[in-house]
Amino acid sequence: MLNVDLHCHSNVSDGVLSPMELAARAKANGVDVWALTDHDELGGIAQARAAANELGIRFVAGVEISITWAGKTIHIVGLGIDENNADLREGLASVRGGRELRGRDIAEQLNAVGIPGAFEGALKFADNPELLGRTHFARFLVEKGVRNTVSEVFQSFLVEGKPGFVPHRWATLEQSVRWIRSAGGRAVIAHPGRYAFDDLQFNVFVEQFRALGGEGIEVITGSHYPAQYDQYAAYAQKTGLLASRGSDFHGPTESRFDLGSLPHLPPNVKPVWHDWAL
Ligand code: AMP
Ligand code: MN
Ligand code: MN
Ligand code: MN
Repeated sequence: MLNVDLHCHSNVSDGVLSPMELAARAKANGVDVWALTDHDELGGIAQARAAANELGIRFVAGVEISITWAGKTIHIVGLGIDENNADLREGLASVRGGRELRGRDIAEQLNAVGIPGAFEGALKFADNPELLGRTHFARFLVEKGVRNTVSEVFQSFLVEGKPGFVPHRWATLEQSVRWIRSAGGRAVIAHPGRYAFDDLQFNVFVEQFRALGGEGIEVITGSHYPAQYDQYAAYAQKTGLLASRGSDFHGPTESRFDLGSLPHLPPNVKPVWHDWAL
C-alpha cells in the first residue's frame, strides 16, 4: 500500500523545517506520495518539488487556506494545484494581508497580561514574515518560559476566551474552493474533528462545500483522535466525499505524528488520490 501524506507545513508558513528538509524526512520515513500544504502560501512548492524529484518521491503541490464560515475559522486544503495560477496566487496574497495587524493586536493583548515584546519575539520565529501566525507566538511564549510546550500554550493563550485571541476574517468558503479549482486542484476539508460544529451545522457546511465543487475530507490526520478516524471514514463513505490522509506535521519536537507515520486509510473509503496517475 502506498504511504501517502498530503498535509504538512514548512518554515514558509508555521512549520520548523525547510521544504528540502521536509522532503528528506518524508523520504526517510518511507513516504511515497507527499504534499506540502503551507498555510495561505505557495512559496515553498518549487523547492519542495525539486527536492522530492531528486529523492524519487512523488510530489503533490498543495496549500491550506484559512477561511471564516459562520464565525468559525476553518481550513480548506487544496491538492494538485498549479502554484503559478494567478487567481490562487492573488487570493492567497489577500488572505495573508491581514496577518501583520492581527499580530500586533495579539501582542497588545499579551502585553496587557504582563508579556511584553511579543510582536518582535514572534516575528523572530517566522521565517516568512508575511505568514506571522499564532504558532510563532506560541513558540515565543515557550522561549519566554510562560509554558513548556506549544500545545500547552494553546490551552491558556491565543484561543477564544484567552489572552492573545484576535477574531479574524479570513477568506470565504466560496473563494477558497474557487481558487483551488481554478488552479486545477481538489478541495478537501482539513481536520474536520477540530471544529466545534454540531451535526446539523456540519452538514450544512459540507452541503455548501460540495455545492461549490469541494470533493474531499481528511479522515486520517494528526489532529484526530483514533476514534475520529472511524467516525469520519463513516461520514466520507455515507456522503461520498473522497478521503484524505495527512500528518499535519509542523516540526520534530512539536507534532504528535511524524510524516508518513499515521495509520492507512480504512478500506471503506475512496482515497482522494484514487484517480491520480501515481
Ligand atoms: P493561525 O493561522 O495564525 O491562526 O494559526 C493556526 C495554527 O496554530 C494552526 O495551523 C496550528 O499550527 C496552530 N494551532 C492552533 N491550535 C493549536 C493547538 N491546540 N495546539 C497546537 N497548535 C495549534
Ligand atoms: Mn499550522
Ligand atoms: Mn489546519
Ligand atoms: Mn495544517
